[in-house]
Amino acid sequence: MPVRQLDIQPGTKQYISIAIVSIILLLGSGWAIVNGTAEGTVSPSFLGSYGTAVFIFEVITSLLLLSQFLRTGRFTYAFLSMAYLWVALISPVQIMLLNDTISLTSSFRAGGKEASWLWTFWHVGFPVIIAIALGLNGSNPVITHRPVFWAWYLYTAELIIIAIVLSFSLFGWVSFPEMVGTDNQFGNLLTQVIGPLVAISCAAALFMVVVKGRFQTDIYAWLAVAMLAAFCEGIVSVYSGSRFSVGWYAARVLSLISSGSVFVALLLDTMALYLRVIDQNRELRKIASIDKLTQLSNRREFDERLAEEIRRATRERKTMSLIMLDIDFFKSFNDSYGHQTGDKCLEQVAASIRKFISRPADVAARYGGEEFAVLLPDTAEHSAFELAEDIRKDISNTPFRLADGDHVTVTASLGVSSLTPTSVSDGDELIKSADAALYLAKRSGRNRVQRPTRTWHSERQEQEAKVDGHPEILRKG
Ligand code: GH3
Ligand code: MG
Ligand code: MG
Repeated sequence: MPVRQLDIQPGTKQYISIAIVSIILLLGSGWAIVNGTAEGTVSPSFLGSYGTAVFIFEVITSLLLLSQFLRTGRFTYAFLSMAYLWVALISPVQIMLLNDTISLTSSFRAGGKEASWLWTFWHVGFPVIIAIALGLNGSNPVITHRPVFWAWYLYTAELIIIAIVLSFSLFGWVSFPEMVGTDNQFGNLLTQVIGPLVAISCAAALFMVVVKGRFQTDIYAWLAVAMLAAFCEGIVSVYSGSRFSVGWYAARVLSLISSGSVFVALLLDTMALYLRVIDQNRELRKIASIDKLTQLSNRREFDERLAEEIRRATRERKTMSLIMLDIDFFKSFNDSYGHQTGDKCLEQVAASIRKFISRPADVAARYGGEEFAVLLPDTAEHSAFELAEDIRKDISNTPFRLADGDHVTVTASLGVSSLTPTSVSDGDELIKSADAALYLAKRSGRNRVQRPTRTWHSERQEQEAKVDGHPEILRKG
């Protein structure tokens, strides 16, 4: 199956993890609601690491989802990505305001009051955009063929809205009503209006994720956890009663779980996809290099390996050998028993060849039709000749069984050639001489192994002598 998108279905382990995390979320929230009002103090180091974690989770999640949109054109991914971008850009500012980092060091007029409004925009905007995203999903997902154009358009619109929200909050252009007193106690507006609004938005988004996403992919499954955590965060925040109370810190932990769950799911999916791609590449390479009928190397692989081994033998000044094999009278075999039986015979001959190929560097290939080639690096001619003789004997001593139970003897002729290459072009020489030897074997009566003729050898030796006499040619080699 081609890899097109992060559509990995959660397995049983995932569902169990999701169930466990959800139960922990609910139990933890229950505990925080009961014990949450206990007073705590502001912890700048907690705020710093919390803000950094949320920002990094959300930016990476947003980018991964954007890449999914660009790949698939599904608007669901675009809006999911925008939901995470929304949080990524608003949350750091909100957290800095909580800590008074911005208001103390700059001319911004914003402070704790605006922080609670940014929290509201963050926590209502996020589930609303998620709900829109899931609304675009379903049996007929909304898809574009121009994702790049839409990405520019949607992101620009979102960035403008974020810029407006942040400017209004930071520069104090609007006087927002107070939600949190200077003593950090939550006011009625927060506990009775905004808190429930956040919880309802998150519940609506959770509903959409469950109904439209139906836990069908890792992303939707963990998005459900994210929305459950966000929902719990809203409730726990309301019950915690004041900033920096125990419940308030518990709500921040819930917010971290909400931010991190889809991030982790995407990370796991990306890793799983990466492994799948490696496997597929390996499989493709194998398919591309193997002859389907005989399972020997194909011509392409043989050519590549020959070039490689010629280069190696040239470098290391080693002798290499090549056996060319052609089945005798195969045309009449086909004519008598049919092409399919002929194919079976090719498989049997390939099996005979494979029996004698033991070294990893040796290459047994189907050179074409009913011709085979065996490349033997670092092998002298007499060893190659013996090997060819073994193969020839095995073929002629293994009768081919016909469908009707009769047996026919199949034979092959083989040509063996060796050389110590001095340049890349010697690959052609090796094939030519093995071919010449094979031709000689055919002419001398078939079912035999032949070396190249004496004349071929002496021509070659003459050439080698010439090369020896020209040191500049040697250096080139
Ligand atoms: P020789 O002893 O001189 O090699 O005679 P031959 O008949 O084997 O030689 P020739 O090259 O004339 O014939 C090769 C035949 O091999 C032709 C073709 O029908 C057959 N052949 C080539 N590829 C395949 C194949 O993939 N399957 C089958 N069944 N036959 C094939
Ligand atoms: Mg032939
Ligand atoms: Mg033949």
